Amino acid sequence: MLRERQIPPLGIFPAEPWAVAAVRLDPRLIKEFAGQAETMFALANGYLGIRGTPEEGRPVREPGTFLNGFHEFRPINYGERAYGFPEVGQSILNCPDGTIIKLFIDGDPFIPVRADVLSYRRALDLRAGTLVREIVWTTPGGRRMRLRTLRLVSFEHRHLAAIQYELVPEEAGAEIVISSELVNRQPLPEDGSDPRLAAGFDGRVLLPVGTRREELRASLSYVTAGSRLILGCGMDHVLDTACQFTHDSSCEDDIAAVVFKIKGEPGRPIRLWKYLGYHYSEGDDVAQVQSQVAWTLDRAMEEGFPAILRRHQVLIDRFWARADVEVEGLGTRLQQVLRWNLFQLLQATERAEGHGVGARGLTGRTYEGHYFWDTEIYVLPFLVYTQPRIARNILKFRYDTLDRARARAKELGHKGATFPWRTINGDEASAYYAAGTAQYHINADIAYAVRKYVEVSGDTEFLCRFGAELLVETARFWRDLGFFSARCGGGFCINGVTGPDEYTAVVDNNLFTNLMARENLRYAADTIEGLERDHPDALAGLIHRTSLEATEPATWREAAERMYVPWDERLQIHPQDDSFLDKERWDFAGTPEDHYPLLLHYHPLNLYRAQVIKQADVVLAMLLLGEQFTPEQKKRNFDYYDPLTTHDSSLSVCIQSIVANELGYAGKALDYFRFAATMDLSDIGGNMMHGAHIASIGGTWMALVYGFAGMRDHGGCISFHPRLPAQWRRLSFTLAIRGQRLRVEAAHDFTTYRLSKGEALTIRHNGNAITLTAAMPTATCPTPPPIPEPKPEFAPAPLPTGC
Ligand code: BGC
Repeated sequence: MLRERQIPPLGIFPAEPWAVAAVRLDPRLIKEFAGQAETMFALANGYLGIRGTPEEGRPVREPGTFLNGFHEFRPINYGERAYGFPEVGQSILNCPDGTIIKLFIDGDPFIPVRADVLSYRRALDLRAGTLVREIVWTTPGGRRMRLRTLRLVSFEHRHLAAIQYELVPEEAGAEIVISSELVNRQPLPEDGSDPRLAAGFDGRVLLPVGTRREELRASLSYVTAGSRLILGCGMDHVLDTACQFTHDSSCEDDIAAVVFKIKGEPGRPIRLWKYLGYHYSEGDDVAQVQSQVAWTLDRAMEEGFPAILRRHQVLIDRFWARADVEVEGLGTRLQQVLRWNLFQLLQATERAEGHGVGARGLTGRTYEGHYFWDTEIYVLPFLVYTQPRIARNILKFRYDTLDRARARAKELGHKGATFPWRTINGDEASAYYAAGTAQYHINADIAYAVRKYVEVSGDTEFLCRFGAELLVETARFWRDLGFFSARCGGGFCINGVTGPDEYTAVVDNNLFTNLMARENLRYAADTIEGLERDHPDALAGLIHRTSLEATEPATWREAAERMYVPWDERLQIHPQDDSFLDKERWDFAGTPEDHYPLLLHYHPLNLYRAQVIKQADVVLAMLLLGEQFTPEQKKRNFDYYDPLTTHDSSLSVCIQSIVANELGYAGKALDYFRFAATMDLSDIGGNMMHGAHIASIGGTWMALVYGFAGMRDHGGCISFHPRLPAQWRRLSFTLAIRGQRLRVEAAHDFTTYRLSKGEALTIRHNGNAITLTAAMPTATCPTPPPIPEPKPEFAPAPLPTGC
């Protein structure tokens, strides 16, 4: 079950509103929590991600430098094959690590965990987007040294990372050697105990295709053995010091080093700027990729570190102005956790252009770096309301892979397009169809995200050029997958699917899937109608690209109108699928606490034949399509499914929190929220070391905005019903809606809405319409009083342990 773990953030990490910092160097903790620290201190910009390993190159647990989309193929070996199983998977690759800067003083290496440290601070500065480390120590020879490192992965230049390394021998001179390296580390050994982790490779994956070395610059290039992607990476340096120095460099296939020998003098700073450039490309033009690396480094050298830092700051300031969420009364610790979470969303998405968002962003290789529905359902809402341009880029990636989805549909004997459950390049990479390909709902999730983006941003151009085509192909797919079943009163049934709950697989009429497919079908038909009316040229182009026939939208509508929606008359709830309620309830009382997550301790069949749920499924449908349920249905459904849900997926508690909030289960809503918010920094799943849980983080934002502020946006109408926990004083955030900017500040007595940018916006507060205009931009409304906590209908849901 859910449990908070005592990891450094709760020990030696002080609560600070704008930084996550370690302020003491405890060698034991540093080694024990090296993996968690690498995730906590990871820097990324959506294209390039670097785990927070120390400059000295050790101790390290899972060092990682990732480029979004840079992957190798991997044969998928099945004991027994069947038609349509993907033969080749994809796996994100670890690129050469350029963060390494080794220091030798009078011949001895500086190893922080062994040094006589006088003061230490290593902080992820969330307001500056930098990783800063300050250490003062005494060498065995009794000399005091001061070192400050500052690392950034640039938001402005997506191929660039930079490090400022400043050393001051405080009292006496010393012979100083700084060896700055770029190292292609060997693949890590495989950990077969957890199927979620990335598998290893047999043999070399990065084949060297050339090195370059010139003055203080060196670069390495490779081609991947299977996917034939060319990787180029390089480093360049500026050493700024009044001390005398010489330098030397070397470059081999897997390691480049630039070595500075410096006569350190007391009080004289030695400042090294290190620039790192990373590029990859398809094709075979190694020289071009090498040139691109050189151009990135040239540009960095011309601009210089202070200018790079300044421009980086401008983009981060813009992010916080749009995306910060403040909670007064939450305590500094949780505010810190929230900001770290928001910062992860920035890091995972900002410069992802042309790519998706991996389940762990660019902070780890878990799930092979694959993109899932996590992006559309958990991350997109945040982006749509704070960074619509980025939301567009990320949806555009799905459009770019539409042809592959068409090919996959064909392979599976379907019409339209079938998007992969997990992928990097657009091809299905899931080796386990029951919890992979069968999760056809990914198609409807994409359609749902298109709709949310278009309705909230007002970007009809995106709909005309890309969205409509996605809708046509996904609607075609659903129409083809389902059928009108005489046994179900002629209802449109969709059989043989897996819903979001991966502990129940390959079932008929999963409620979530049917309802989301219905939306997909309806929205596609509505969109065609809208194009016919308002954008005939766009419709003509669409017909040309998709061979859409005039009769098709009517067939989608018919399937939507006759969609079979499972309902259990006796329990007065929506069954999760046709067979769910026939199953035996899981023996929760007899399940030892250390057997969670169940997926690591029980055969899938044991899970499939029981009423046990991995993650919000019906409950998620009640959030996404909340207007399609009555309040009574929502309550009975929640009361039934909540006790059966293990939250073994990190995608669960955030959703459960929002729906608990709506139903008035205030205590539960807050507990679930805390678990979602601290998923990583309290290591709830015990796997923070492998990367940040990006979907849960997006869901945490949703739990604040959809949960505690009670926002709903069905059909693009924005409404609020704030419900602040007693301990909180105020919840404030800003939303971008159709090019306008809305500031929301909810307190227990009043909620204020302010149109901080734009001409006019109508929203609803507690059911009443309010129009804000440039002339009258502010409205202050009484916050609805809390409702008494209702009684659950079924067995009381056990609270997660550790609450
Ligand atoms: C969840 C999926 C999710 C995946 C990646 C799994 O544990 O069950 O819903 O997409 O993790 O985050």
